[in-house]
Amino acid sequence: MKESERIVNEIAQGLSQLDEGASWFSTLEPAQQKAVLREVVSHSMQAHATVEDGREGVARSGVKPTANPAVMIVREPLPDRMAKIINLPDSENVKAFRVLVSTFSVADTRRRELECRGSCSHAWHNLT
Ligand SMILES: [Zn+2]
Repeated sequence: MKESERIVNEIAQGLSQLDEGASWFSTLEPAQQKAVLREVVSHSMQAHATVEDGREGVARSGVKPTANPAVMIVREPLPDRMAKIINLPDSENVKAFRVLVSTFSVADTRRRELECRGSCSHAWHNLT
């Protein structure tokens, strides 16, 4: 499993703090940051994230609701909005990371509780 994938999933599962993840993320080059954002969007789609998850994610993200990624993640159609978040200027990358990972955490927690129920073969749900 890639370092980025492990870190993002540790946050989603409450094994690591979003602030720690954001600190790690901020040390990456902008191109690496974009690659991580693309991964998080992909994970979010797999976890069937919704606009409602986006709302809850923004509330947990520490990002102002008026910031670009926060405004975009609460609008339909979500896959399209998430793609646009990835394409924001690099100066928005850290806010985008916080909003996307928080939203993924909400969607993935629901998936773990309702579908996986503690016994699944998803490598990223079996980190320990
Ligand atoms: Zn699972």
